[in-house]
Amino acid sequence: MKTIIEPFRIKAVEPIRMTTRAERQAILARAHHNLFAIKSRDVLIDLLTDSGTAAMSAEQWAAIMRGDESYAGSPSFERFETAVKALMPFKHVIPTHQGRAAEAILFSLLGGPGKLIPSNTHFDTTRGNIEATGAEARDLLIAEGRDPMLIHPFKGNMDLAALEALLKAESAAIPCVMLTITNNAGGGQPASLENIRAASALARAHGKPFIIDGCRFAENAWFIKTREPGQETRAIPDIVRDIFSCADAMTMSAKKDAFGNIGGWLALNDDDLAEAARARLILTEGFPTYGGLAGRDLDALAQGLSEIVDEDYLRYRIRANEYVVERLDAAGVPVVRPAGGHAVFLDAGRMLAHIPPLAYPGQALACALYEEGGVRGCEIGTVMFGLQPDGTEKPAAMELVRLAMPRRVYTQSHADYLIEAILAVNERKHDISGMRIAWQPKALRHFTARFDPLAPAFPEP
Ligand SMILES: *Cc1c(COP(=O)(O)O)cnc(C)c1O
Repeated sequence: MKTIIEPFRIKAVEPIRMTTRAERQAILARAHHNLFAIKSRDVLIDLLTDSGTAAMSAEQWAAIMRGDESYAGSPSFERFETAVKALMPFKHVIPTHQGRAAEAILFSLLGGPGKLIPSNTHFDTTRGNIEATGAEARDLLIAEGRDPMLIHPFKGNMDLAALEALLKAESAAIPCVMLTITNNAGGGQPASLENIRAASALARAHGKPFIIDGCRFAENAWFIKTREPGQETRAIPDIVRDIFSCADAMTMSAKKDAFGNIGGWLALNDDDLAEAARARLILTEGFPTYGGLAGRDLDALAQGLSEIVDEDYLRYRIRANEYVVERLDAAGVPVVRPAGGHAVFLDAGRMLAHIPPLAYPGQALACALYEEGGVRGCEIGTVMFGLQPDGTEKPAAMELVRLAMPRRVYTQSHADYLIEAILAVNERKHDISGMRIAWQPKALRHFTARFDPLAPAFPEP
């Protein structure tokens, strides 16, 4: 069969509340054109994030009931630990309430002033937790990964020459080498097994632990299976084990590739580091057999990990984004190519080329999509990155709108609706005006800033 179907039936549903364009215009105005200020019941298709938004399976809900809430020694922890170790063969598995908690613990031990931690691209919480210790986070992505239109199978690869040069020049400052799979900040683009192995070998040759930020490990493994020569006949769990056997530690947000609504972990091999991490865990998260989680969460994650490596799921997951990107690309809408694992990125800078970066084309496009179809995406551009610490502004490297796909939540007709909304906005892109900021906080302004359109976005005909 050529048609790739959603490999599940739907047992529990949440109604989507339909709204009219006039209602959405009023909602946008009340929210000061900031989509973070809109209530989820006013959104038809919510693509703000893929984090914690997955639909759990019937087996996960059953596992919730099996959860044992004992403070110490819960069998839920045993099931969680066994499920993690089946895919990621680390000696110590330490549960946390989210990925960033694992990062905070790890970098409180490895970071500090004068330290320098390289990665392909640090995700923003990773960077934040490194910088909070006084250390520097350095991105060493291959050049191909920074060109939105360029087709390359592994745009998340580490620049190995740059890594080797840095390890030689700054060895004393580097406590570890990191790699994010898939590269979230770069559009969900994967790293190849060959690149992961080579980066690991370089780190270890210089005596540095190699640490994987593994939030989207299953999506990355699927890209390896389907794009890397020699990997096509291999089972996904085998590829996953190969990936993590290159690493000395990992951090994980279970809100991504573990089908969790909450959760994370830190896993590592070094006994001394694990002991120090558990001591911090007890201070900030909880006892080592539950971390910041309930027993039922641990059981849901254990079950989720067995489902995330299913090939029928991964084929549908990756195909869903490819389908949207192919349709948009064929219609001349500028999109980041190839499709990433967890999101579709619209290139608002190119689509709305008549809007200068400091009039926020990404924000204008995100609002236009909401007005057109009730679709909620997220500006990744000058609103998010442009505000400098001294209060001045400079344009971001790219003006993107991210449409992040929750796992197992939307169907192909939702994708077709999304495409229709984007094409309708593209049809009248010349009527879309830029925005000015009416109010903003001193930092992380994208969450709470208030915007005014520079002219009516859709003038009455
Ligand atoms: C989401 C994410 C994190 C942080 O995880 P949280 O669970 O949101 O704290 C870290 N790294 C990457 C690549 C992520 O996508």
